[in-house]
Amino acid sequence: MICLLLTIFASLFAAACSGVQERTFLAVKPDGVQRRLVGEIVRRFERKGFKLVALKLVQASEELLREHYAELRERPFYGRLVKYMGSGPVVAMVWQGLDVVRASRALIGATDPADSQPGTVRGDFCIEVGKNVIHGSDSVESARREIALWFQPNELLCWEDNTEHWLYE
Ligand code: ADP
Repeated sequence: MICLLLTIFASLFAAACSGVQERTFLAVKPDGVQRRLVGEIVRRFERKGFKLVALKLVQASEELLREHYAELRERPFYGRLVKYMGSGPVVAMVWQGLDVVRASRALIGATDPADSQPGTVRGDFCIEVGKNVIHGSDSVESARREIALWFQPNELLCWEDNTEHWLYE
């Protein structure tokens, strides 16, 4: 009962914290971590003006990865994808801001780096679809599901952003 009340309280607190702004789940994949791209990737989202609300280095379990990519389970590359994502630590993050899901996908670039524009993360730092260095939620609904899968509610921090006045009309 106490657990249930705490969970409800945490969810209400998280909702109050995010206000009207959206959140998205981003992860620097194992190749991005190995290639020392974490700082560069975080820098791009910070520079844009989005707000970091959670970040951790995770060695993801096969179970978590199978769940995360459940929608792709029928695809021929599913097994390879789960193995790749579990081949080393990933940096899991939650970012917040106006239209952050769509804007993040634009900063990340197309799924296949061969189609990604220069200036995007995938366009600048990788070559093949099976080693495309970053994940970003593809819809607000996926973002909610993925954030809940990777983070406990109390890992999402609510902090006062003093730049909001300069970023939003
Ligand atoms: P995105 O990551 O851009 O949302 P998808 O959800 O379609 O793209 O695919 C998830 C991940 O699966 C991709 O980021 C990539 O790592 C991998 N993937 C997608 N298509 C292929 C493919 N044809 N071969 C190998 N891996 C793939």
